[in-house]
Amino acid sequence: MRRCIGCYESKPQSELMRLTYNGSAFIADTDGRNDGRGIYLCRNAECIEKSFKRKAWNRICRSGVNREEIMRVIEGALNEN
Ligand SMILES: [Zn+2]
Repeated sequence: MRRCIGCYESKPQSELMRLTYNGSAFIADTDGRNDGRGIYLCRNAECIEKSFKRKAWNRICRSGVNREEIMRVIEGALNEN
């Protein structure tokens, strides 16, 4: 079980999209094999929005985040799974 950074609910990994943060950028981890810190998010707009409201991304990337850039990564994760 993995925890969504939007709603904080724990769900099976298969229900979540997985991203990783490699120290400088967020990456859509479509095959679940990227190294780096795993970030899990439900596949719905509500949790994506919550993740921004809760500043979840800023906690992972302390130097600051670009919402548009993250949205591109999220869309990539959604499209490829
Ligand atoms: Zn969620």
